[in-house]
Amino acid sequence: MAYQYDDQNIFAKILRGEIPNDTVLETEHSLAFRDIQPQAPVHILVIPRGPYVCFDHFAQEASDAEITDYVRAVGEVCKMNGLETDGFRLIANAGHDGVQEVPHLHVHILAGRMLGRMLAKA
Ligand code: AMP
Repeated sequence: MAYQYDDQNIFAKILRGEIPNDTVLETEHSLAFRDIQPQAPVHILVIPRGPYVCFDHFAQEASDAEITDYVRAVGEVCKMNGLETDGFRLIANAGHDGVQEVPHLHVHILAGRMLGRMLAKA
């Protein structure tokens, strides 16, 4: 299946400057900002600037430069917040079963409290 990117999604609007955001880090190919409904003391989203729906779309179609920038941006946000001390969790929801609400790739960085086991029972 080929992914179809919807450029009216809320993160596309943030990237175009149409909606404000609480920026944590800007790089050439990536943007990190605080989640509007934080679920932990640290809850930061990292998105690529390019039009990628989800992680596998990005992995298949992004350039090496975009992928390198994105992975390093995630690492930099972790470093900026001192997360190597107590740890953190990365989540990248995709599609229906992953309960992805915004169809633009984003990694959630969650930290600052004990996060519990990875999945609750459905
Ligand atoms: P997901 O379910 O993985 O698609 O998560 C989408 C996330 O985007 C949720 O945690 C929302 O709280 C967050 N979110 C939605 N709109 C905004 C916004 N304008 N600024 C920051 N975070 C947002």
